[in-house]
Amino acid sequence: MDTDICLGLSNAQAQARLNRDGPNVLRVQPVKPAWHYLLAQFQDPLVYLLLVAVAITLAIWFLSDSRDWPVDALVITLIVLANAFLGFFQETRSQRAVAALAKLTQTTSSIIRDGALTRIPSEQLVIGDLLVLAEGDSVGADARLIQANALQVLEASLTGESEAVSKNTTCSSAEVPLAERSNMVFKGTAIAQGTGLGVVTAVGMATEVGGIAHLLDVTPEEVTPLQKEVRAIGRMLGIAILLIAAVVVAAVLMLTDVHTVDDVLRVLLLGVSLAVAAVPEGLPAVLSLVLAFGMLRMARNKAIIKRLSSVETLGSASVICTDKTGTLTRSEMTIQQTMTASGKGVVSGVGYAPQGQIHHQDLPMSGGPVHSENVLLLRGGSLAGNAALTQQEDGTWVIQGDPTEGAFLVAERKLDAPARSRERFERVAEIPFTSDRKMMSALVIDHERNDERLLISKGAPDVLLQHCTQVQVGMDVVPLTDDLRAKAVADVNELSGAALRTLSVAYRPLSPEEDVTAGPSLETALVFIGTVGISDPPREEVAPAIAEARRAGIRIIMITGDHPRTAARIAEDLGIIQAGAGALTGADLDKLDDAALAEAVKSTSVYARVAPSHKLRIVDALQAQGHVVAMTGDGVNDAPALKSADIGIAMGITGTEVTRQAGKMILADDNFATIVLAVREGRGILDNIRKFLRYLLSSNMGEVLTVFLAVVGAGIIGLVDEKGGIILPLLATQILWINLITDAAPAIAMGLDPHSEDVMTRSPRKPTDRIIDTNMWVGVLQVGLVMALASLLTIDWMLPGGLIPGNESLVLARTACFTVLVLAQLFNALSARSESASAFIGLFANQWLWGAIVLAMILQIAVVHWSPLNRAFGTSALTLSQWGLCFAMASTVFWFSELRKLVLRLRSPWQEKDLCQKLS
Ligand code: ATP
Repeated sequence: MDTDICLGLSNAQAQARLNRDGPNVLRVQPVKPAWHYLLAQFQDPLVYLLLVAVAITLAIWFLSDSRDWPVDALVITLIVLANAFLGFFQETRSQRAVAALAKLTQTTSSIIRDGALTRIPSEQLVIGDLLVLAEGDSVGADARLIQANALQVLEASLTGESEAVSKNTTCSSAEVPLAERSNMVFKGTAIAQGTGLGVVTAVGMATEVGGIAHLLDVTPEEVTPLQKEVRAIGRMLGIAILLIAAVVVAAVLMLTDVHTVDDVLRVLLLGVSLAVAAVPEGLPAVLSLVLAFGMLRMARNKAIIKRLSSVETLGSASVICTDKTGTLTRSEMTIQQTMTASGKGVVSGVGYAPQGQIHHQDLPMSGGPVHSENVLLLRGGSLAGNAALTQQEDGTWVIQGDPTEGAFLVAERKLDAPARSRERFERVAEIPFTSDRKMMSALVIDHERNDERLLISKGAPDVLLQHCTQVQVGMDVVPLTDDLRAKAVADVNELSGAALRTLSVAYRPLSPEEDVTAGPSLETALVFIGTVGISDPPREEVAPAIAEARRAGIRIIMITGDHPRTAARIAEDLGIIQAGAGALTGADLDKLDDAALAEAVKSTSVYARVAPSHKLRIVDALQAQGHVVAMTGDGVNDAPALKSADIGIAMGITGTEVTRQAGKMILADDNFATIVLAVREGRGILDNIRKFLRYLLSSNMGEVLTVFLAVVGAGIIGLVDEKGGIILPLLATQILWINLITDAAPAIAMGLDPHSEDVMTRSPRKPTDRIIDTNMWVGVLQVGLVMALASLLTIDWMLPGGLIPGNESLVLARTACFTVLVLAQLFNALSARSESASAFIGLFANQWLWGAIVLAMILQIAVVHWSPLNRAFGTSALTLSQWGLCFAMASTVFWFSELRKLVLRLRSPWQEKDLCQKLS
């Protein structure tokens, strides 16, 4: 591969290979070009209906033997085109939003190029790249290993083998099947443990997984439950409206004296236009756009959502299970106290500053045995870790690696002993830390003591003590008696009771015959040195976020690997539990069967010293009780729980690639408060979806009812010609115009409405709840009815006869009716923004909506006053007072809605009280 196994490829080499082989992606189907989506807009039953309308208008034009242009046909054709472009625009915008997010969540790989360790999107890997592998990584391409340290790989995605397989660098003597190629790692698999280095041998479709890619399920386009529901509503309404249109057409044909084919065609045309206008065909497109924009906004707020459906699920989340370290706390670890056999030590000075600045006021620890124990404790802790503390050119100190381990290095530096210890001890092997073991060890050679080999371990005190049989007192080692053990436990309790994270250190000289590669079996008969108390302050924004989540009826559960007392203290401080509530430990959980666990999860809010496998049980138990569970995780072993949770949340900074792939959401800042923010966004988006549904459905209802009631009540309102035939209140082109200017733009604007203040004061929405409930349907019907009555009364007012006799021409009366209907939709847009709150609250908060309203107004004025449009749409100019009348009539929709909401508010305070009681 022409790879330098120290420096990797050069950037120039890599670029040339990327050009030659293309990006490292699995592509089964070619990408569809944009025109494909534009054409797809025309493959819609409603477009077919519109084309029927064009055919009818052409037929009428042909029969009427007119010398003029076929204006109606042209207008409808333009409307078809305008609709298609609107749809295309919406679809490409949502696709672009989703693609932008996909970029944020793409997998990355660590490589060495030009001698530097960098992380790049796996898509850009090329043959010959030097791949650096670590626990939790997702393997980005096929690679031949050149280094493997205790490397274990999960290859289930490729071979179906569920156990992790060990890897090495030895040559295979003969050709072996895929599952046995132990010196290779393959694209799409995951590193379960250990570290390694490999040279990429194949990318993209040439990889092993590429060879079977055509067998893999091509991810179908995702349809969220909400989208399904909305589509179903659309379909049901479509059928209902087609029926109504058919009834209208039949009624007109039967009741009116139709003589000519031309007459019949005109009635048919109206029926078709009514169907086109009233079917809420824009719903699915607006819905995807609103969901996609919501995802983008969340991503800007550091919550990256991978799938549209998670936006909805977030809005229904009823439990958030969160890690403690780094998510609730700042992960700024400072060793504050030490506890050894001879007593307590206090570490002073500013230990942790964000830039890693260390102040050397330093450790006034008393001399004597405490001092020597403390030197051992801190030096041992440092040697047993993998972090590094380096001073930069500007004098500041930087911790690289795990913050817990960094804390030891900082404290050791305060003792002013580190430099010598680095020369004196040589590290030869490691028994790694896992969340299951909760401890780790390093094997070092002490060059100042006859190259003696030492095993140094650090870990959770309760775990480490089980591996100890002796204890360090001053310079001596004595047996760990029951009394001394009890003292050590009491020390730990004291530290953890003060909300400190505890870690103990122990060691053992190894005899020359012991094998340093023997692994965890070496960790026995250790000499206990002592325990450190590490502070890790909670993030400031977390306590308010927890309070907000509780107000929103969401339970917060802390699940941590830390000590139960530390966990409980921090949970108390943050308001997750009340003082004295205590925590359930992993060991407790192991004793509970599923039934007992189901009972326990109802009241337990802190789980401590748990292993990743416990998380899965807790998620399952909560879900069985109907909860919608959001759960955080970072390690490779958290992946199953993340997959199982309704919303698996991976950590963006500290999380592994494997959890990022398993999760449905990625917290770019690892911060708990961001989860609550995302829930708020999710709820706000659901709210907005209800707003535009309310708007679109009631507006369309208004259009249908106007035509329907005009036909049914023609006699009453005087819509009858001299021959007794029914006069239609609107022309086909007018109906289509209303549809064009008042449907999409205000609905999208409403989807982007600022979220109302009260989204976080309601209980979570149940996933089974219908998006449109009975109350909303009733509202839609009522508002539609008011809209229809207002426009019909206007036409009655203008025309001779009917309830209110007038004396205007039919063209003018229709223009007024048409204008009232348009204005009524705009008024409706203002009041549909909330279910029960007054429209005057935040009336001007949504500029998009006002933009859409002003645009529609300008277009309506043009259609009424500009003569070319007069001809196209059968309108004529209105006087100022007639405009006034139209405004007044249209505004009844607004006043009616506001009155309706007022009644709702007066009737429902008890509901709020009920909720408050439930929450408290
Ligand atoms: P959370 O699960 O909330 O992130 P956590 O980080 O404390 O909490 P783990 O990482 O599983 O959870 O750590 C569990 C325990 O293991 C810690 O309380 C600590 O005592 C010990 N521990 C943590 N990091 C190390 C380490 N690098 N070396 C040795 N022991 C460690």
